[in-house]
Amino acid sequence: MENLPELLVANWNNYPRINARLWEFRTENQAVKLLDSLSRCIPRGLGRSYGDCSLEKNIISTPDFKRFIALDQKQEILECEAGISLDQILRTIIPRGLFLPVTPGTRHVTLGGAIASDVHGKNHHLHGAFGRHVLSLLLLTPGGEVIDCSREKNAEIFYAVCGGMGLLGLILSARIRLMPIQSTYISQLTIPAENLDHLMDLFETHEQSTYSVAWLDLLSRGRNFGHGLFMLGEHCLSGEITSKDLRRREKFGINIPFFMPGWIMNEHGLRAFNNLYHLRGKSGPGRSFPDLDDFFYPLDKVHNWNRFYGRKGFLQYQFVLPKEHSRLGLEKIQAHIQASGILPFLAVLKLLGPQAGPLSFPLQGYTLALDFPIKPGLSAMLSALDRLVHNLGGRIYLAKDARMSKLDFRRGYPEISRFLELKNKLDPKNKMASLQSKRLGLCAKPY
Ligand SMILES: Cc1cc2nc3c(=O)[nH]c(=O)nc-3n(C[C@H](O)[C@H](O)[C@H](O)COP(=O)(O)OP(=O)(O)OC[C@H]3O[C@@H](n4cnc5c(N)ncnc54)[C@H](O)[C@@H]3O)c2cc1C
Repeated sequence: MENLPELLVANWNNYPRINARLWEFRTENQAVKLLDSLSRCIPRGLGRSYGDCSLEKNIISTPDFKRFIALDQKQEILECEAGISLDQILRTIIPRGLFLPVTPGTRHVTLGGAIASDVHGKNHHLHGAFGRHVLSLLLLTPGGEVIDCSREKNAEIFYAVCGGMGLLGLILSARIRLMPIQSTYISQLTIPAENLDHLMDLFETHEQSTYSVAWLDLLSRGRNFGHGLFMLGEHCLSGEITSKDLRRREKFGINIPFFMPGWIMNEHGLRAFNNLYHLRGKSGPGRSFPDLDDFFYPLDKVHNWNRFYGRKGFLQYQFVLPKEHSRLGLEKIQAHIQASGILPFLAVLKLLGPQAGPLSFPLQGYTLALDFPIKPGLSAMLSALDRLVHNLGGRIYLAKDARMSKLDFRRGYPEISRFLELKNKLDPKNKMASLQSKRLGLCAKPY
């Protein structure tokens, strides 16, 4: 095997950073040989996870394995190699009147990464996570076997691979179901929410709306806690919008050219940002017609926005609480964050539906994602949040984790033994391992 130099590698939040070898491949044969030659490795797509789930000394880098295999426009089924990005897929399917039935908040993730994290979008409460729309996939196991998995064939493996964080093998390709769209616009209703109760009432009243998401001002206190903006969306039908409705905005793209100094993220900066956001809701409920990029991928317009957080990087803390504990739980968590004085830059709330595979993150309830710049005291504060989340029956998203303890992980994911039984069968030597899986004890045998 060639002698590859090590590179400094980090995922989207720039923490942790490690020296690793990135092994690339272009064909299935090369993938088989590569996997055979490595004793320990983890697949990595576009590194858009936050944390260490795709970090290890030897990384199997998939983005060069990116061919379209088949598109059946009539049946709305697409088959691709797993290193293809959702961006490449969308560029091909949108002009044909098709869209992804589930999409995360960025186009820059690979198909394999979307399946391995079983990513969710703003419609999880109705349409589930990405895996629900995967018809079948080919898995290259650590033993070198290629297994065809679906709900009908090797179903147990199929469910475990969706959300399995690359720990059962390398996803080579997948067939996914697409959805038809009649336009590239969304009919969006934005409703200002006075406080958390109001916000949650809005989610529940509009539970039948396809897309819903809320921005929440976690700096607000007392009766105002949880004021924010609630946003609903439906795909526009053809002819539903007139040219008057379409106040076409210039497409913009901003690049953050270098790491910003850490002081940018102080409390004054956070307040200014939150006030700016809140101004949007001052005029009461409003209808607008953003295009697909503006509605689903607003952050993609600010290239390298992760550099805002400076060289030290940041942590995204995303948890879900069961519905019955969500109101009280969110209040407790907010009180804890405010008392600590370590404030998140952004807080995004979504409603989730039922769980799918054993390691899949969503469960019926509310999920909150919080971005924290890395600073002294953050780790202790988040450890206390972990306890609150787990005491309330919640869990933390593996794709956003760089620090959870083994104990908290086991409490949050009670179906772990089902997953480990499969890992024992498919990967008894723990060939597939990441820094995260070792920290969480996600392995066939103890290290
Ligand atoms: C701006 C932004 C917005 C986001 N919004 C959302 C959101 O709304 N909802 C959501 O759920 N997530 C969201 N995410 C997280 C992101 O969707 C997931 O982390 C996704 O898994 C990243 O895909 P990737 O290709 O970059 O994979 P990586 O980050 O490289 O890897 C993620 C995991 O997938 C595994 N993996 C990758 N490829 C393969 C393969 N071929 N076979 C087996 N395993 C593989 C890796 O081992 C790792 O465990 C967001 C991220 C960003 C940066």
